[in-house]
Amino acid sequence: MFAVRPAVGGAEGLRGIPCRERRDTTERWASALIDSGVSDLVVRGARCVATLDDQRREFADGWVAVRGGLIEAVGTGPAPAAQMTIDATDCLVTPGLVNTHHHLYQNLTRAWPGMTDQPLFGWLTSLYPLWAALDTESVHVSTWVGLAELALSGCTTSTDHLYVHPRGAGDLLGAQVGAARDLGVRFHPTRGSMSLSQKDGGLPPDDLVADDDEILTASEEAVARHHDRAWGAMTRVALAPCSPFSVTERLMVATAELAERLDVRLHTHFAENAEDDAFSLATFGCRPVDYLERTGWATPRTWVAHCVMPTDPEVRRLGAAGVGVAHCPSSNLILASGIAPIADLRAAGAPVGIGVDGSSSADSASMWLETRQAMLLAKLRSGPGVATARWALELATLGGACCLGREGELGVLAPGAVADLAVWSLTGPGYAGALADPIEAWLRCGPAAARDTIVGGIPIVREGHLVAATTLDEMLRAHRRLAARMQRLP
Ligand code: ZN
Repeated sequence: MFAVRPAVGGAEGLRGIPCRERRDTTERWASALIDSGVSDLVVRGARCVATLDDQRREFADGWVAVRGGLIEAVGTGPAPAAQMTIDATDCLVTPGLVNTHHHLYQNLTRAWPGMTDQPLFGWLTSLYPLWAALDTESVHVSTWVGLAELALSGCTTSTDHLYVHPRGAGDLLGAQVGAARDLGVRFHPTRGSMSLSQKDGGLPPDDLVADDDEILTASEEAVARHHDRAWGAMTRVALAPCSPFSVTERLMVATAELAERLDVRLHTHFAENAEDDAFSLATFGCRPVDYLERTGWATPRTWVAHCVMPTDPEVRRLGAAGVGVAHCPSSNLILASGIAPIADLRAAGAPVGIGVDGSSSADSASMWLETRQAMLLAKLRSGPGVATARWALELATLGGACCLGREGELGVLAPGAVADLAVWSLTGPGYAGALADPIEAWLRCGPAAARDTIVGGIPIVREGHLVAATTLDEMLRAHRRLAARMQRLP
C-alpha cells in the first residue's frame, strides 16, 4: 500500500481549486462531506487496479481513494474509510479512457449510405450538404448523446473537432460545452474551421467556409470564454483548422501563431490517406509532413488525427518534433485509408492516443472497442509481440493525456491526478476461463462496457447505466427527430 500527499498542495489546497466546474461537482456530490476527515469516495476490492503510474504498478485486491475530485491514494488490502464506497470485486479498475479525436455532430448522420463505396474525399462531399443544417439545438443534443455513449465505454475525457460552422448557426461551441457540463464528462472542444472552398481549390462547398480573419477572431473568443487553465479543469479549448485540404495556408500559419500566443493546443487532420498525400503534392508542392513543418505546426503543441501515410523518415521527423497523434483505427479501416504506423511513431518519440473519430465514419464510438482495434491492428502491422493489452491501455490513457497536454493530470491513477476512473466487470460467460491476467482479459475478451465511470470523483455511469438515465431518454427522442431532419427522412 502507498499513500502519498497529492502533488498540488494539501487537502485544503485541493479543495480550493479555482475552477467553476470543480465547485459545481462538489456542490452536487460532496459539499457536506468535505470536512469529515475521511475520503469522499473509495473504490475497493478490485481484482486489479492498473495505475499507469511511473512504475506501471498494478494492485491485486486494490483500492483507489478520492478526495476533492482528485486521487488521494492508491493501494492494496484494507481500504481507508470514505463517505461513499464502490465495491469493485471481480473488476479491473483503470484510469478513465481519453478520446483524442471525434466529431460528435456526425452521430446525426451515422451509418450514412453515401460512404459505403468511396474513400475520404467522396464520402465528405456526400455529407457536407447535410451538415449545413447544423444549429445550436442539433449540436447540443448530438454532443450530449455522443458523450453519453463514450461515458458508457469508460471514457472520462473527450475532445471534439467541430469544423462545420454554417453562417448564422449561433454559438455552437457554447452549445457543446453546456452539454458536456450537464453530463459531467471532462471536455476538450476545439474551435474547428474551414476557409478553402471548392472555388478556391478546396473540398468543402462555398457556403460552409468562413473568412480567415473571422475564424481567427472566433477562435480567440472561444479560448477567452471557455478555456480553463486550472489543474483539474473540466473544459479546455484547442484550435483546429479542419485539414490542409479545407483551409488556406495563411490560416494554418496564423492559427499556429495564435495558439502560441494564447498558449493553447493545435489539432487537425493529417496525412489520412493517398488522396490527402496527392492533394498536398498538387496544391502545396510538398508532402504533408513538409507542409506541417513549413506552416509552423511541427511542435509539441500539436496533435494530429490519423497520420496514416508518413514514410519511415517522416515518422522520425514527427517523433523528433514531438507531434502527438490521435490514432483512429476503425475510421481508417472503414474508409480503407490504411494502417497507421503507431508502434513506429511511439518508438520515434511521438505521443499517441486513441480517437474514435466521427460517428459517420467509425460509426461506433466505444473507446474500449477502439482500444482493442488499435491493439489488433498494431499486431498485424508490427508483429504479435509489439502490441499487448497493456500497450493499448497506455495509448488510451497516458497517451491521450499527452496529446491533450495533461500528462500527470489525466490518464493515471496517482495521488494528485484527477479522479477519473473506469471500473470494468470481468465476470460472465465472456470472461469465463480468463484467470491469468486481468488486463489481457479485459481487452481480448468482451465486448466490454464500463460498469462504472467516474469523473472527478463523481459517478456518471453506475452498473452499466448512465446516472442521468431520464435525461438520456429525452435526449434520444430529440436526437431521432434532429437526425431525421438532417437526413431528410420522414
Ligand atoms: Zn476526423
